Order: sequence, then structure tokens, then C-alpha cells
Amino acid sequence: MKLNDPSLLETRGYVNGTWLSKTETFRVTDPANNEQLAQIADLDRSDVVAAIEAACDAQAGWARRTGKDRAGILRKWFNLMVANADDLATIVTAEMGKPWREAHAEILYGAGYIEWFAEEAKRVYGDVIPGHQPDKRLFVLKQPVGVVGAITPWNFPNAMIARKAAPALAVGCTFLVRPAEQTPLSALAMAVLADRAGIPAGVFNVLPSSDPVGHGQELCSNPKVAKVSFTGSTRVGKILMRQCSDMIKKLSLELGGNAPFIVFNDADVDAAVEGAMIAKFRNNGQTCVCANRFLVQSRVYDEFAQKLREKVQRLTPGNGYDQGVTIGPMIDEAAVRKVETHIMDAVDNGAKILEGGRRSELGGTFFTPTVLTGVTSDMLIANEETFGPVAPLFQFETEAEVISLANDSEFGLAAYFYSCDLSRVWRVAEALECGMVGVNTGLISTEVAPFGGVKQSGLGREGSKYGCDDYLNIKYLCVEV
Ligand code: ADP
Repeated sequence: MKLNDPSLLETRGYVNGTWLSKTETFRVTDPANNEQLAQIADLDRSDVVAAIEAACDAQAGWARRTGKDRAGILRKWFNLMVANADDLATIVTAEMGKPWREAHAEILYGAGYIEWFAEEAKRVYGDVIPGHQPDKRLFVLKQPVGVVGAITPWNFPNAMIARKAAPALAVGCTFLVRPAEQTPLSALAMAVLADRAGIPAGVFNVLPSSDPVGHGQELCSNPKVAKVSFTGSTRVGKILMRQCSDMIKKLSLELGGNAPFIVFNDADVDAAVEGAMIAKFRNNGQTCVCANRFLVQSRVYDEFAQKLREKVQRLTPGNGYDQGVTIGPMIDEAAVRKVETHIMDAVDNGAKILEGGRRSELGGTFFTPTVLTGVTSDMLIANEETFGPVAPLFQFETEAEVISLANDSEFGLAAYFYSCDLSRVWRVAEALECGMVGVNTGLISTEVAPFGGVKQSGLGREGSKYGCDDYLNIKYLCVEV
């Protein structure tokens, strides 16, 4: 890995403003070729306890600063992220595999959250409520919850941390993150820049480790941690929620999805195909808002399938560093096996492989982008998040039928649909059970809008003017005059 600034490649933990070496280390590899990238300090549970102490000690002082002061420091962090975007993207591609252009876009996307919440830091307003009695004055204060413990996934090694750390720090919380074991280098590079930006000791801490379980238990059970924020699978979200229940600990959860992507007969099919490519194949299908089920109305089904196939044939798998590569490897062997299982189950139950459907000749964890037709709702792929480059095409006849199909899921994160009928647009957008809807677009994520789900897709929202709420307590003051 060639970096303009090699000092961004840090392998030690970052706790209380100092770099922590450990004799125990764990290996980080490049999923494109399985080569070792680094050996990382493997922090144990006692390190987590020490980091929580440090974050707790730093919290009151950080919260006492003015919003403008915190905003200035976050702004410096943002500037450093942008100035080092090329190197940060190189690190993301190395440890996670996505094409470098996509990695670069992730860095700017993540930095966007830091910029946004730096601005919001100055605008954490309370309320004055007209009194309910002549001698009463009522006020609402917004106060930081305290120490925040975050656990993040590997699919956006930078942005998933930025999205949590930025609002937490903006409102006066201190923050610890345990990054995914596959992608600690991006988190540690963020810490290098946080340090340079002047974020005070103990305010932002990174705790790499090979074993997430003990860290999760400590963050959920330590009384000094006021809140846990998690992005990852619904399975692990449920474990953390159970662990937090003893202390009624505040929790934000951004979990799995099973996004429907609906194409109506009245859609612009070419636009729908464009949107489908982004919603399905960005990050090799490994995002929680990726389209998981393509529900296509009968009159445009064949046209959509054919045009999607042509686009999919033009995807170029390869090492994310190579020019022209549009699709990287999958993160690991388990991810490939899940994709294979979903395809096999669909084919056994009557689906047809229109394109792909097999491992790539590139070997390793490369998988050929796949389109399946004749998919039905009794198949595994209809009910589980595939998290890979497979587009399964279902056919439907009526609007009522497709709404019922789309909502037939325990998840409710994102949904997409294409239609040129304005009345239908409103009807369907209102009827879909999810937190986010893309109408005639396949790309919805931005720091200025609220990201999050309903049902088993999670709790809370990240980004936008609502994004601070997850890190604030409301305190009501009743004053007798
Ligand atoms: P993914 O499929 O994206 O890897 P996971 O939910 O398995 O989703 O992982 C998301 C994050 O949660 C990762 O950092 C992982 O190490 C961590 N994790 C996995 N199991 C646990 C657990 N029992 N407690 C806390 N964190 C966990």
C-alpha cells in the first residue's frame, strides 16, 4: 500500500490521546489477494475499561466548551480528512476491497458528516414553553448523554465511524469505537487525524480487537457508558439490546435491511436500470441499503431483465486499485458462501440464472455479478439479506400486490421504486414500511438526510437535523417565580 503520508498507517490502539502497543496482535489482510497488510494491537477488556475511564474523565470538560469551540475542532478534523482523502481511500481499498473511486467517495461522504455536525454543534437549541400556571416558567435543555461506545462494521470502515462520532462530539459527548476486526486501519487513520486536529485526550478513542464479544459486553454493562451505538447485523443488534437492557442503556441501532426495488409498468425503464445498478452493485452489494429484491411489474419485466443483464455484463471485477475496476472482491469466504447458498436455493426452487451465478475466474472471494429471474417469495433470497452482487427479479401484477410483497419482511430500512405517475408515487411512498424511500433514484444516502430504519432494522437516525437527538438528553426545568 503506497501512501503519500505513511504515518497514517497506525497499528496501535488510540486511548486517552496516546498510542497503545500490545504484545498480542491480530492480522489484517487484503481481501483481493489475502496478503497481510498489518498486525494490529489486540486490545483486551481491561484496555476497554481504561478507555471508558478516560472518556468519562474527559467528558465534562469537553461538554463545558462552547458549541463554537467544538465546531472549530471538528472543522479541523473535517479539513484533514478531505486533505488526506486519497490516502484514506487507499487504506479503505486495501483492507476492505472496494474500488478506489468508491473508497474515495466514502471518505468524502464520511467527512460530510463531520462537516455537517460541526455546523450543528452551534445550534443545539432548547425550548421555552409557555407556563401552565401564571407563576411558572418552563424550559427545555438539551444535554449530552455522556460517554458513547460505538461498534462498527467493515463495509464502510470510515463513514460508519464518522457518522456516529461527529454528532456525539458535536454535542459534547466523548466517544470510543471498536472497529470491525477486518478494517481497523481506517479507524486508526481517523484517530491520527483526530489527534492532529486537536481533539483533546479521551474525547475520541479507537479500540481495535480481534474478539468483539468482550468489548461489546463491557460497553453495554459498564455504568460509565451512557449510550451504545451500533451498525451491523440484526442478530448482533439483538445481543447488544439484551445486554443493554439491565441498565436501560440508551441505544442506537442501524441494522440489516431487505430493501425492495419496485419497477412499475409506468416507470422509465432505462432510469430504473441505472438506479438498480447503483442500488444493487455499489460496494459489491455489501451495504445495508442495497436493493435485495427486485419487484418488477409484468409488462416491463422482460425489458428490465434484459437491460439490467446488459449493464451487469459491463461490470469489471478486479483489484480495487486497478484502473477501470468497478467491482471488488467480497469481504470473506463466508460472504461468498452466503451468496452461493441463496443462488442455489433459488435455482432449486425454480429460478433461472440470467447472468453470472458463479465464482469468478479471478479466484479468492471474487464473485461474478448475478441476475436471477423467476424468483418467488418462498425462496431464501426473498427473506434474508444477501449482502452480495445478486439481483433477484420477482414479477408482480398489481400495486396492492407489490405493496404487500414489499412489506412482507421483518426489516424496514430502505425501499426504492420507479414510477412516473404522481399519485402512485405518493400512495406507494406512504404505504411502504421503511425508514427511507428512493423514488426514481437508487442512491439516497447523504449527511443532510436522516438515515435509519423501522421494524427490525433499528432504532434512531443518523445525519440531518435529527442526528443530534440520539446523543442528547432532554431536561425539563420548571421554575416558580
Ligand atoms: P457484519 O455482517 O456486517 O459483519 P456483524 O453484526 O456480524 O455484521 O458485525 C458488525 C460489528 O459487530 C463488527 O465490528 C463485529 O466485530 C461486531 N460484533 C460481532 N459480534 C458481536 C458481539 N457479540 N458483540 C459485540 N460486537 C459484535
